Amino acid sequence: MIPKTQSKKKNNKYPNLLKPLDLGFTTLKNRVLMGSMHTGLEEGDPRKMAAFYAERARGQVGLIVTGGVAPNRSGWVKPFAGKLTNRKEVKFHRIITEAVHKEGGKICMQILHSGRYAYLPFAVAPSTSKSPISPFKAWGMPGFLVRWTINDFIRSASLAQKAGYDGIEIMGSEGYLINEFLVTRTNKRTDKWGSSYENRMRFPLEIVKGIRKKVGSDFIIVFRLSMIDLVQDGSSWEEIVILAKRLEESGVTIINTGIGWHEARVPTISTRVPRAAFTWVTRKMKDEISIPLVTTNRINMPEVAEKILARGDADMVSMARPFLADPDIVLKSIENREDEINTCIACNQACLDHIFLNKKASCLVNPRACHETELNYLPTNNKKNIAVVGAGPSGLSFATIAAERGHLVTLFEEQSEIGGQFNIAKQVPGKEEFHEIIRYYTRKLELTNVKLKLNTKATVEMLKEFDEIVLATGISPRKIKIEGGNEKNILSYLDVLKYKKPVGKKVAILGAGGIGFDVAEYLSHQGVNPSQDIKEYMKEWGVDMTISNRGGLTKPVKVESPREIYLLQRKETKVGKGLGKTTAFGHRASLTRRNVKMMNACTYLKFDEKGLLISRKGKQQLLEVDQIIICAGQLPLNHLSQPLEEIGINVHLIGGAKSADKLDAKIAIRQGSELAAKI
Ligand code: NAP
Ligand code: SF4
Repeated sequence: MIPKTQSKKKNNKYPNLLKPLDLGFTTLKNRVLMGSMHTGLEEGDPRKMAAFYAERARGQVGLIVTGGVAPNRSGWVKPFAGKLTNRKEVKFHRIITEAVHKEGGKICMQILHSGRYAYLPFAVAPSTSKSPISPFKAWGMPGFLVRWTINDFIRSASLAQKAGYDGIEIMGSEGYLINEFLVTRTNKRTDKWGSSYENRMRFPLEIVKGIRKKVGSDFIIVFRLSMIDLVQDGSSWEEIVILAKRLEESGVTIINTGIGWHEARVPTISTRVPRAAFTWVTRKMKDEISIPLVTTNRINMPEVAEKILARGDADMVSMARPFLADPDIVLKSIENREDEINTCIACNQACLDHIFLNKKASCLVNPRACHETELNYLPTNNKKNIAVVGAGPSGLSFATIAAERGHLVTLFEEQSEIGGQFNIAKQVPGKEEFHEIIRYYTRKLELTNVKLKLNTKATVEMLKEFDEIVLATGISPRKIKIEGGNEKNILSYLDVLKYKKPVGKKVAILGAGGIGFDVAEYLSHQGVNPSQDIKEYMKEWGVDMTISNRGGLTKPVKVESPREIYLLQRKETKVGKGLGKTTAFGHRASLTRRNVKMMNACTYLKFDEKGLLISRKGKQQLLEVDQIIICAGQLPLNHLSQPLEEIGINVHLIGGAKSADKLDAKIAIRQGSELAAKI
């Protein structure tokens, strides 16, 4: 890797965040816990996982928690997922713990039994049931299996200790097995593991007591406690407090906060969720127990974390995805380099969405994440003079990495600002985090001495003297012809989001891909933006901030849209099917609440002063709209490769200039990074 040359002046802006945490038998170097994430590395070569965690330990995180490791086969998230059940598997884990300790880090292994979320025909749960997000019905556990499972947790923790872990985290939230025992929603038992709360708590408490007895007193036990289930028939606040107290008495070292079950209908981590949206939940617990408390969800920058700790909401903050985006987020905070942080924008596109598709996780803004042994940006020994045309996602990632490796890079941008499509995305309510990507690249261009030429349309004449030419000229919106439409009443998404042309009170959006949804979101909002206001967000999504109802749910408030909107597509599939697996629900629910009418299987027939005539399922229908907005995908924008090639100059194409088909920011940044790593 390239040595860091920037200022290393120690920072005192984050006194609470960077303060060590004394646990009695050991001390954590600061208040940042890298939260558990399944990355897909758990099932492969342990050296890849070791490299992944070692890099984060080198970045000075206080405590790492691994992705979930099953205590037995029925606890697997999916077939052949990571488990720790015997001495042979200890060797695999030792490679990871040794790599982290070599960097001076501390690491806990998370023990996760998936319960009825297991993607297995032999999934088990307290009572026979099927979750709404799993195709498999889980078998109710007979009493002896409950006892065996407790023993499996204890054995797994003991093996983790032998493997060199500094502790374990018991996954007791998000709707997994332990959480399922706690609530009547999933626990219908009448034996000693069900019915009264005393009985429903018995399963986690016996696990904790058994583990503490087995591992002794100088081993960290973190318990991830679901503090707000966000599902019907979840725990009451009183029950959660009782459990927290009993966990403390039973030997837990730290309580971590869990927010919402996976099947909850409230987005809790996506980019539309305000920063630090749920720390008030942890705050409610603060005066109830005396062991350290960790808070979590949508904490992605040090100043956000510092504020949370300064106002006393928690003793530590958990950040998970921000460590995919930037392994050095803590180090940069320590060294006064927070303006260099590559911020997690909470898009889920390369991390959670990959995991749900059974692919290795990575990060939209950092394609090296989880590829530490494969994608490296080493100093070049063949310095070249490189021209890059286009300062959008692919051009920026290429230019900054190539320059960091030692090449001389000139970046031409026709517009007056960098960012390309990021400047469109950042306009959309709930996508404000895109400002951070632009901030990051602005700083990175300075640090890597890229010669940035704004307001400059690159010509063949300007380019031909360079050793290498990289065309990252992006895309142009696809135009479609509709009978009767004219320029005044047909807009493109750029007209709306970039040029801010006036939009009428009744509109139809043609094309329901990511951009169609973005435009619908943009046009259906008015007043306070819920992504920027925690109380407004909770009201809109029906979260009861007093947690007086079980599960913390209440009726969502009605939201008014300033206009009547149709979002249309030609395909017969469900509208929004192509969106990210983990975010599509939130997009659809937000638009439904704003009364946006989503329609599939449309044929666009004619558009005139009466409106848009469509045919759908064999019937014609007139949508009385004044304007239509075209969001029908993109075409490559590449006017330079042909003239350059005609005079014998080879070019590299990346991003939209290469292909606009299925292109998004994740692919564009990855293409730029991969080319820059080898040029
Ligand atoms: P897209 O996802 O390809 O969607 C284009 C839409 O236009 C489709 O709904 C398509 O559906 C329709 N369409 C295509 N050709 C058409 C034609 N000739 N006439 C009428 N309709 C046509 O493209 P996009 O929305 O422009 O997004 C571009 C990229 O950015 C995508 O990869 C997208 O995933 C990504 N993006 C992602 C997000 C996100 O939140 N994850 C947000 C914004 C953008 P029918 O053919 O069924 O009509
Ligand atoms: Fe964050 Fe998106 Fe990267 Fe996931 S892919 S870590 S959500 S920036």
